[in-house]
Amino acid sequence: MLICATCAVEYEEPTPAVCPICDDQRQYVPASGQRWLKLDELEQDGQHTVVKENEPGLIGITTEPVVGIGQTSQLVITPAGSLLWDPVGYLDGSAVDAVLRRGPVLAIAASHPHMFGAQLEWSHRLGGVPVLVADADRDWLGRTGPAVEFWSGSRTVAEGLTLHQTGGHFPGSAVAHWARGADGKGVILTGDSVFPNPDRRSVAFMRSYPNHLPLSGAVALRIARQLGELEFDRIYGNFNNMIISGAKTVLHDSAQRHTAWAGGDFDHLT
Ligand SMILES: [Zn+2]
Ligand SMILES: [Zn+2]
Repeated sequence: MLICATCAVEYEEPTPAVCPICDDQRQYVPASGQRWLKLDELEQDGQHTVVKENEPGLIGITTEPVVGIGQTSQLVITPAGSLLWDPVGYLDGSAVDAVLRRGPVLAIAASHPHMFGAQLEWSHRLGGVPVLVADADRDWLGRTGPAVEFWSGSRTVAEGLTLHQTGGHFPGSAVAHWARGADGKGVILTGDSVFPNPDRRSVAFMRSYPNHLPLSGAVALRIARQLGELEFDRIYGNFNNMIISGAKTVLHDSAQRHTAWAGGDFDHLT
């Protein structure tokens, strides 16, 4: 098993000439070319994981130095067990111990293929827990196995913890809705279909972030309408970016703003 140095998604050997996820219009293969990494070599080079509590019941896992895109994985803990969301592309014994210490892991799931990380490796090290993959994105898997379960629409992981397919950035793009988060006001964990911006009071709706390709206004409105039916006050992105409160209004207003700009309402300002 190897991981792509740029996106940190795992692939079975022999690996393709270039990582299909990076070669896609949403990502990029760096000018220096395709590189593949092995987990044991990274460990020998001093790679390690960092575990940090974001709020009660939500643990962030990152890698130092950054591997691939450098997302933060989230471990969402419920009384019935946990969900490992957007698994990072590197893992070590201390990360596995930190996850297992918080109770049984019910499932691993990614918001979209850029965030697949080393999901099968995580599953293997956690005792074969199910890896939930949106059926619409199944062709992006670089590695598969009996742990993979395909789903579409919505998928309950535990009481008060449900995956919802929104589409957008990828057809199978999903969010995780955690009802007990944010002191019971509700949390949504997103990937790139809804991206909390650096201003912390708006979100973006993009097909590609590195290559700056927006989604249409209609899709932004569709996603905001779908998620608007859920109860939540906070949104976590996967790069330590978040909307700390009032996120439902932020989502609605951002979709309106995106649609207005993309539709030409503000062309007189350009
Ligand atoms: Zn890649
Ligand atoms: Zn992405």
